[in-house]
Amino acid sequence: MPFIKNDFIDKVLARVDIVDVINARVKLKKQGSSYTCCCPFHQEKTPSFSVNQKKQYFNCFGCHKAGSAIKFVMEYDNLSFSEAVVELANMVGLEVEYEEKGRSRFNNVNKEESKTSIYFTLLTDAAKLFHQELQKSEIAQQYLAARGITKETIEKYEIGFAPNSWDFILKI
Ligand SMILES: [Zn+2]
Repeated sequence: MPFIKNDFIDKVLARVDIVDVINARVKLKKQGSSYTCCCPFHQEKTPSFSVNQKKQYFNCFGCHKAGSAIKFVMEYDNLSFSEAVVELANMVGLEVEYEEKGRSRFNNVNKEESKTSIYFTLLTDAAKLFHQELQKSEIAQQYLAARGITKETIEKYEIGFAPNSWDFILKI
C-alpha cells in the first residue's frame, strides 16, 4: 500500500468531527461541553467514556483508551492506521493523497523500479484484455450472473474471462 501524505492526515483530522465519527458507531449523549457514553472498549454500566469536541479527543476513565478520531476508528473498526485515515477521508469525501516517492519500496533501486513498472504495465494490459474478452462472451456473462455477481462488481474488480486458447495473450 502506498504511503499516505503526512499533511493529508492533518487535513483529514481538520475536516472530520470526532463527535460525528463516534456517534455514527455508538450513541453519544451531550453533557455540558463534552459528550459521553458507556465505553465501547470495556464493559460498564455507568458512562466513563467522554469525547471532547473542542480538542477532538476521546478518553475513557475506565480503561484509559484515548486519542483522536483516527485512533477511535482503528480500535473500533479494527483497522490499521492508514486504513482508518482512508475510512475517515471517505466519510468526509476527501480524495486520499499518497506520497509520490513512497509509491514503491524499490525507489532507491532504479533497475528494480523500472522492472516493476514494466511488469505492472504488462499485467494491467493483460487484465484489460481479459476483461474485454468477458464482454464478448455470452456464456461467461451468464455464468457470472448465475453466481450472483453483478455488473457493478464485474466493473469494479475488472473481472475477466480467459478464452479457450493457450496463446490468446501472445497473439495480441
Ligand atoms: Zn473504556
